[in-house]
Amino acid sequence: MRALVKAEKAEGLVMRDEPVPEIGSDDILIKVRKTGICGTDLHIWKWDEWAQKTIPVPMVVGHEFAGVVEAIGSHVRTVKVGDRVSGEGHLIGMKSRMARAGHFHLDPETKGVGVNVPGAFAEYLKIPAFNAIHLPPEVDDEIASILDPLGNAVHTALSFDLVGEDVLITGAGPIGIMAAAVCRHVGARHVVVTDINDYRLDLCQDVADVVTVNVSREDLRAVMERIGMREGFDIGLEMSGAPKAFDQMVEHMIVGGKIAMLGIPSGKTPVDWNSVIFKSLTIKGIYGREMFETWYKMIAMLQSGLDIRKVITHRMKATDFAQGFALMKQGSCGKVVLDWST
Ligand code: NAD
Ligand code: ZN
Repeated sequence: MRALVKAEKAEGLVMRDEPVPEIGSDDILIKVRKTGICGTDLHIWKWDEWAQKTIPVPMVVGHEFAGVVEAIGSHVRTVKVGDRVSGEGHLIGMKSRMARAGHFHLDPETKGVGVNVPGAFAEYLKIPAFNAIHLPPEVDDEIASILDPLGNAVHTALSFDLVGEDVLITGAGPIGIMAAAVCRHVGARHVVVTDINDYRLDLCQDVADVVTVNVSREDLRAVMERIGMREGFDIGLEMSGAPKAFDQMVEHMIVGGKIAMLGIPSGKTPVDWNSVIFKSLTIKGIYGREMFETWYKMIAMLQSGLDIRKVITHRMKATDFAQGFALMKQGSCGKVVLDWST
């Protein structure tokens, strides 16, 4: 089968022939139709410090996918050949306290598809049947291929009650943009999104009816005053990984505000703890998606009118992957979706 492989401990990825994965009794084999390129894949492409520590070489990468079930293991009862599926890319153990309590997404033994084990940038993908998510007709293949990052957005956004709240989202990457659409969908009042990249902020406005602020030249406090906000944001969703963005968020939160942190800083970063303490802020770290409540909620929201399609700005054949990665490097795109069926 054709697959995108991290073949050497160096920059780049290669498309080459790989054996079709062999499934065990609890697994399913998916014929992949579409995949999304994630920021994580870009780290792997660039072979940065994190990738060097994490990615076994050689390995097929990629973790955002949708496809059709081609084969099932002998124990599988919940999935049939021909089912249209996406899937949770975090493979969990069942030994830890949290997993055994049913909090699967908090299992410390989690392994990532396309990060620790062979991934989805291929014609065929193997995952445990437990991780499969059935797709309703309202969720077509290209939307299904980005449910993983939409799930990050939904998990973060739904961490706190948003109804009637004023929300600050720092970072208008694909995930920040989708989180903005979710905040609107569930009934937040003001949703303000910051970035330093105009392309991303324009795209954000295209996807969701929100206020955008380019913090490299606009004053956030002045924007708050203009829209009639007096005290500060009730909810903060940090989706940039930029230490400056987090500082700005803390500064503009209401006393007693709540922050959910998804963005991953590149290393240890100083925090103004005095502000966090004297503002009595709640800060929650977010990893992945809740298994499987996030999947349930996001599919339900897509069925009830949540529209994030415009966040997909580029669609191309899998063989044109290099062009997709180049766009990602420049930041001049939303989601890039690769088609494996042609
Ligand atoms: P992205 O890199 O495409 O977007 C980040 C955005 O932040 C960019 O548009 C960038 O211009 C912007 N930014 C940079 N400095 C800023 C500043 N000072 N103020 C405001 N915005 C600023 O990333 P993405 O794919 O949308 O993902 C968002 C973040 O979530 C990334 O940090 C990613 O690594 C992280 N992530 C975490 C998880 C998890 O499970 N915790 C999962 C997926 C992604
Ligand atoms: Zn991803």
